[in-house]
Amino acid sequence: MSSRLEETDVLVIGGGLAGERCAMEAAAAGHRAMILSLVPPRRSHSCAAQGGMQAALGNCVKAEGDGPDWHFLDTVRGSDWGADQEVATIFAEEAPIAVRELAHYGVPWTRVRGGKNKYFIKGQEVEIDEPLENDGLITHRDFGGTAKWRACYAAAGTGHAALYAVDSEVVRLGITVRDRTEAVSLIHDGTRCTGAIVRDLRDGSYFAVMARATVIATGGYGRIYGQYTSNAVINEGTGASIALDTGIVPLGNMEAVQFHPTTLSPSGILVTEGCRGDGGYLLDKNMNRFMVEAEPEKQELASRDVVSRHMAQCMRDGNGVDSPYGPHLWLDIRHLGEEHLRTKLLEVWDICRDFVGRNPAKDLIPVRPTQHYSMGGVRVNKDGQAYGLLGLYAVGEAACWDMHGFNRLGGNSLAETLVSGRLIGARVAEYAPGVSLRSDTGIAFDALEAAEQKARSWLARSGNGPSIYEIRDAMGETMMHKVGIFRTGTELAEAVLELGQLLDDCDNAVLRCKDPGVNPELAFALRLKGMLRLAMTVAKGAAARTESRGAHYRTDFPLRNDRDWMNRTLVRWGAEESEPTFSYEPTGIVDLPPGHRGYGSDERIEMTEPLEAYNETVHAEQSRHGRLETVEAMGSRLRRGAWQSVSR
Ligand SMILES: Cc1cc2nc3c(=O)[nH]c(=O)nc-3n(C[C@H](O)[C@H](O)[C@H](O)COP(=O)(O)OP(=O)(O)OC[C@H]3O[C@@H](n4cnc5c(N)ncnc54)[C@H](O)[C@@H]3O)c2cc1C
Repeated sequence: MSSRLEETDVLVIGGGLAGERCAMEAAAAGHRAMILSLVPPRRSHSCAAQGGMQAALGNCVKAEGDGPDWHFLDTVRGSDWGADQEVATIFAEEAPIAVRELAHYGVPWTRVRGGKNKYFIKGQEVEIDEPLENDGLITHRDFGGTAKWRACYAAAGTGHAALYAVDSEVVRLGITVRDRTEAVSLIHDGTRCTGAIVRDLRDGSYFAVMARATVIATGGYGRIYGQYTSNAVINEGTGASIALDTGIVPLGNMEAVQFHPTTLSPSGILVTEGCRGDGGYLLDKNMNRFMVEAEPEKQELASRDVVSRHMAQCMRDGNGVDSPYGPHLWLDIRHLGEEHLRTKLLEVWDICRDFVGRNPAKDLIPVRPTQHYSMGGVRVNKDGQAYGLLGLYAVGEAACWDMHGFNRLGGNSLAETLVSGRLIGARVAEYAPGVSLRSDTGIAFDALEAAEQKARSWLARSGNGPSIYEIRDAMGETMMHKVGIFRTGTELAEAVLELGQLLDDCDNAVLRCKDPGVNPELAFALRLKGMLRLAMTVAKGAAARTESRGAHYRTDFPLRNDRDWMNRTLVRWGAEESEPTFSYEPTGIVDLPPGHRGYGSDERIEMTEPLEAYNETVHAEQSRHGRLETVEAMGSRLRRGAWQSVSR
């Protein structure tokens, strides 16, 4: 093969927890695996995860009786009945394996201390006797939207510990890692994906990687919200974008965007939910605990969508604390004490000191909600296979698998990366050996030439066109202020117009730096249109969904509408097409019937179609929308009615 054409068995685009865990499975099965990453894998965004990873081990007193059925129930309720319930079942059953596996790789999980322990629950100090026989077991902290304490944690550096441990396994297995590379398009013939075109960020050169199976594991796309996100600057959604470009693979539920209640004001750096889980609370400018009144049962530990909305409303009502950067609220963790903060919440201690110059044992922390997580992504079946294109898989935050529906519960993402990485990695390993790449080099060279041409045409533009950074900033403002926590039809329509204008501007933008090699401006320009197209799918999807569900909240349609919207949005938009095409598939087989989440509003429009009739349509309808057949039959992993043994 030419030096511009490389070959591997399994190409994994993304070196975060999901991608690395997936690659490990392929390598362990004897395949050649190659990981691409924008940055050295240990700098992937997974490293920033702080508070914990959900797994129903039931090891401490407040977790007693926990198990996968509880975890399933909480996850589906958290998703506001947007999740695929079979995927949620698989996830809840396998999460304990993932946590124990990480312990085996060396993650220093915080452990149960037998004997008397001091905790804070709903603002009150309580003493709990942890049984001595549990001493040394992996312990749990409380997180939002769960019935039991379930989040396993390594202080407030859970993602850091997990990613370093998993990356060490990648090194041990001898997996090829090509860092500082970027997949810029997929190689496919309309029915089968055979790799990706890659840009080397060190020198701007391009090469093709032909692969029997290709996995998108590129994380979320929070940066379409500009500065209003807790996500790293590398979370620009390029994986979702190159899948969308095919025009074949749909993205699922793009309008489902999570806002995290507590990010530091003004920087947007996350302050983990573990703070509230460990007993911290929110205060308005009058030092009033507004969440007690708003959600008497769960208080600060309702799900993120609910808490973020109450916070935003509190500030709209004029009860935010004024600052030169706009209003914020306070997070109070002073009562937890310095010892607790410098051990179990060490990273929060450091962040407060370094980014706002505050000591959280003495000072209040200024916080406000910010974009945090992308529930939407590349739509895949339960084996992780993308709809419509053989050989293409997606995993982790980049995928819409879909266990989060319209709201992800805190701690469920780290667990998803490892559970789905392992399971989908195994499916990829089964699929890859049956594929021959011999006849496909022509399409690879065509795709290579198209990618190079795109870069040349950016460099060839001249004149005084708009700057790509102004377009990026304008996109962020539109997304936060018109496609944010509260949405209305009028503002969403404005957002669509503004994003359309920015797409036009992007076609006329001119680079200030014309260097074809190491040129960050060119690298970003090559991503910008894809980001705008993703933003457009979010805005249009939100405008079309005339109901409120989870994090998608329409003030003009405030009720969840199970009669008309028990479905998942799919959007396709080929690179050469002027408009996206939307369609809707059933959410999946529904075992837990739609009901009240246990927090937030109990008002909704009830489903009128009998569940049995709905469920009978799922297989055929999803197939019609591009779902590929799975190795095990649809519904085979559901444990029908098992939730009844734990449901309150
Ligand atoms: C601040 C913060 C704290 C969080 N805390 C928690 C928590 O406590 N618990 C929890 O469950 N979840 C948490 N989350 C969410 C969770 O961390 C992420 O959802 C998860 O780690 C995503 O993992 P991933 O492997 O899918 O993607 P990432 O870790 O984001 O990795 C993406 C990878 O893709 C690469 N990449 C991207 N585009 C390309 C491309 N085009 N070509 C090549 N490579 C590419 C990147 O270099 C990177 O290696 C947190 C998120 C944030 C932002």
